[in-house]
Amino acid sequence: MTNYFSSDFTLGILGGGQLGKMLLAETRKWDITTKVLDPSPEAPARLACNEFVVGSLTDYDTVYNFGKGVDVLTIEIEHVNVQALEALEAEGVRVYPSPKTLSIVQDKVDQKLFYGEKGIPTSPFSVFESPRVLQEEALEYELNYPLVWKSARFGYDGNGVKVLRNDNDLEGLPEGLCVVEDFVPFEKELAVIVARSSTGEIAAYPVVEMEFHPEANQVEYVLCPARISDDIAEKAQALALRTAECFEVVGLLAVEFFLTKEGEVLVNEVAPRPHNSGHYSIEASYTNQFEQHLRAILGLPLGSTESKAAAVMVNLVGAEGYTGEVVYKNIEQIMALPGVTPHIYGKRETRPFRKMGHVTIVNEDINQARRIAEEVKRTIQVIA
Ligand code: ADP
Repeated sequence: MTNYFSSDFTLGILGGGQLGKMLLAETRKWDITTKVLDPSPEAPARLACNEFVVGSLTDYDTVYNFGKGVDVLTIEIEHVNVQALEALEAEGVRVYPSPKTLSIVQDKVDQKLFYGEKGIPTSPFSVFESPRVLQEEALEYELNYPLVWKSARFGYDGNGVKVLRNDNDLEGLPEGLCVVEDFVPFEKELAVIVARSSTGEIAAYPVVEMEFHPEANQVEYVLCPARISDDIAEKAQALALRTAECFEVVGLLAVEFFLTKEGEVLVNEVAPRPHNSGHYSIEASYTNQFEQHLRAILGLPLGSTESKAAAVMVNLVGAEGYTGEVVYKNIEQIMALPGVTPHIYGKRETRPFRKMGHVTIVNEDINQARRIAEEVKRTIQVIA
């Protein structure tokens, strides 16, 4: 067994955003040496790693050369050069999640086809070479609106996703391979984070519930536990575990679901890394998702996924109408509320809807936590 602690062992992380920064809090806790690659010299993770490299995550040579100098390589963002990871893996670098998992997840078409192949329940879908082919079909027969168009590649936080209500909405969609799915009139959006270690040990976190901002298409609140029946929670956890096994993922797999009005659970999409829906775990879980990710990719025993208390996480995004040097107005007021911990990611510039931080509210009672979360949301302002 490798000695990871206070040693020459080096963990490489592709991406230096907030997820990287929070992962590094755990490598610091264990004195694990780290090296981070990110295109921005201002990346939030730059201060917490041992070595910071500025460079492109999608350029073959940059990723390959970076990976040659580490023992285990992981990611905090999916959009990285997979060919370089394949070469590194072939040369003996341990890459988690695997390039194979990443290549499926990077592409929404491949992801949907994978669910079909594995019998994982997901919304019905069709694949089109380009929106133009869809437009041609619309001329021939009536499409079953509403539908959801998703570009195969490089959609992020609602970009590359559009609800189609009629033929007019087919105009102006970007060219390229896409998937068109039935619109699911869901009751709730749920998520489960699964940890699967390089030894095959596997564990699921409790089901969380996500509440979305109506305009920005970003998660506004994450509640743990979700306010659902035990039956549905068990179903979602079982499906998340099965999905992680199908991907043979090593590390974390965040599985996002739609809960239908009929109580059916459908997989929407997955992310093979720490996830926004698991941030609550830093304050509320026995083992937070970032520590768990390290345990999983290093083949250490997994920690307990149980919660110590209920929690609500509020995303702090830049307020509309403000661009420039960020100010967290009224942060002192929210810190005076019970069980409230802010996390500031370290981005100097705010922009409308940019993810700048989050706030976790822990409480014995989920409903009370939700009430305090609303007060937090009303009080704090991310402005310039
Ligand atoms: P992204 O990768 O940008 O997060 P998602 O595929 O998760 O894209 O879609 C973003 C959001 O759009 C979802 O969280 C959900 O609210 C909505 N959405 C996506 N697909 C569907 C669908 N088939 N039916 C209804 N809403 C959907």
